[in-house]
Amino acid sequence: MVTVSHSKLSTFEQCPQKYKFGYIEKIDTGIKSIEAFMGDMVHRALEKLYKDLKFEKLNTEQGLIDFYNEEWEKHWEENILIVKKQYTKENYKDKGERMIRDYYKKYHPFNQETTIGLETQWYYDLSENHKIHVRIDRLAAPEEGTYEIHDYKTNSSLKTQEELDKDRQLAVYSMGVKKQFPDAKKVILVWHFLDFNKEMRSTRTTEELEELRREVISLIETIEKTDEYLPRQSPLCDYCEFKQICPLWKHLYITEEKTVEEFRKDDGVKLVDEYASLKEKEKNILGQVEEISEKIKKYSEQLGVKNLFGSNNSVMVWSKAAIKFPGKSDSERQKFKEALKALNLYEKYLDVDNWALEKDFDSLNEIEKQVLRKLGKQQKIYRLYLKERKGL
Ligand code: SF4
Repeated sequence: MVTVSHSKLSTFEQCPQKYKFGYIEKIDTGIKSIEAFMGDMVHRALEKLYKDLKFEKLNTEQGLIDFYNEEWEKHWEENILIVKKQYTKENYKDKGERMIRDYYKKYHPFNQETTIGLETQWYYDLSENHKIHVRIDRLAAPEEGTYEIHDYKTNSSLKTQEELDKDRQLAVYSMGVKKQFPDAKKVILVWHFLDFNKEMRSTRTTEELEELRREVISLIETIEKTDEYLPRQSPLCDYCEFKQICPLWKHLYITEEKTVEEFRKDDGVKLVDEYASLKEKEKNILGQVEEISEKIKKYSEQLGVKNLFGSNNSVMVWSKAAIKFPGKSDSERQKFKEALKALNLYEKYLDVDNWALEKDFDSLNEIEKQVLRKLGKQQKIYRLYLKERKGL
């Protein structure tokens, strides 16, 4: 039986290398972003609010803020990562406080519905072989047969209704709720975007949930079959707890530890500098070749000749009036391809894009893979991309 959680699935989708560090090698770097820390503290305060209400204790707004501040100080660690250097620990703390105050004012006295569960720890069987962790911030029942899954979001981006109607996390949890409470006629998904003081809702049909169940199982199977966990660079790398040991960034951290002298002598630094310099020369040379080619074409036309002779070489200038078809980056390319297909000329005249095929290989279906495996040779592919080190 394979057990997954929503965060396990989304970590794999975000970056397979991060998934490997966290879930396979189980590396604990002890690093946490301040955004995650602040979110955790806000969740603790709201959990306390509803937990105490179950014992008829209604915290005051200030009482809850005091609890939040105490938790913040109790759990704060010096290695908590602040990526946005223009903001301090206090700025984040105040932001969390504002979210709790806004929530408190909006829902006080918190009697809109009955709270059934807080920070649930259930597992839902997606199939005989797969189960998923159901961790609901707050499960509530506004009326008989209706359940609400409440989720607190502390991040600074507000999702659109369209995105929420396709969101996986709460939809998966709603399967768990239906299983746990067979009387559930309706399950409403409720997001509290605390930074915006905004509540948004969505629901799913039985058919949508069944389709989602199949998609999640297929994603789990893809993860199980994976044996190469490639790093996927994105703006989220700055918040990743594994950045210092990640193959994409490790060398940067190594060089940052060095003195200017050691930095200059580092083999990696020297190789990159040499490569960049040669690529620059190559660019210049290609530009010069292009320029001289144009001059040769013009000169041969003026002279009315097809062959030009130098000291040791000659250049033949071949020309023919021909039609030029849309290239790979041309917007008319698709129309061009369709026309070739209609004429049965597609296979004959369009080059196979090997690089794209090699990159996309894992996403092909099993039959396509089987056929193509026989035609290709298993080997490690290398490409070098030269980039400028902007802002590093
Ligand atoms: S730093 Fe970026 S690429 Fe590396 S593991 Fe983390 S998310 Fe993936």
